[in-house]
Amino acid sequence: MIVIVGGIPGVGKSTVLDLFKRRAEGMGRGVRIINYGTVMFEEAHRRGVGHRDEMRRLPIDVQREIQISAAEEIAGAPGDIKIVDTHFSIRTSSGYLPGIPSIVASRISPTHLVVVRADPDEILSRRGSDGTRIRDMPESADAVREEMEMEILYAVSTSTITGAPLIIVDNRQGEAERASEDLTSKLGI
Ligand code: ATP
Ligand code: MG
Repeated sequence: MIVIVGGIPGVGKSTVLDLFKRRAEGMGRGVRIINYGTVMFEEAHRRGVGHRDEMRRLPIDVQREIQISAAEEIAGAPGDIKIVDTHFSIRTSSGYLPGIPSIVASRISPTHLVVVRADPDEILSRRGSDGTRIRDMPESADAVREEMEMEILYAVSTSTITGAPLIIVDNRQGEAERASEDLTSKLGI
């Protein structure tokens, strides 16, 4: 099983996925969570980039090269259930970019696609309270809503390209555990 999980920054992907891993491992399944940004950053770091949140400011062709080498590494990693924690769309100063362009989709060859959603106002406050990241601030709830709509549109396009089913998971405030339960059941685990 190779599951690509997307959602805009601060929606709670990593939180829900940690809970999902614990739940699935309790059911005897092996789960490997691979953060696409982390794998990309290892590659970008070798090219002199200092912080992961600087990657989306690199020239588009360099971002694409880094994306493809990360996809190859992810495709080769072992695991019973491999989860790729990523974004289907990336907002850059030159417009939206596909997080999973078709070349990456075909290298990873996912069995399932998941988009995590949450309320735009809640996402804004989650982004503001996370001191470990350099997020693009300030933003409005309308800008966040647009990003979330784009995330779904790009995920639909990845589903069409790969033939993998698309699952939508809502991560409500204070209910990340419930979102992980929903994900487990929709993946048929
Ligand atoms: P990124 O794409 O930038 O890695 P992410 O989608 O992985 O972001 P997280 O880091 O999981 O987001 O969560 C962002 C913040 O929101 C964290 O501080 C986390 O504790 C909080 N959070 C996540 N889910 C919920 C929830 N259901 N209720 C309340 N807070 C939440
Ligand atoms: Mg994360």
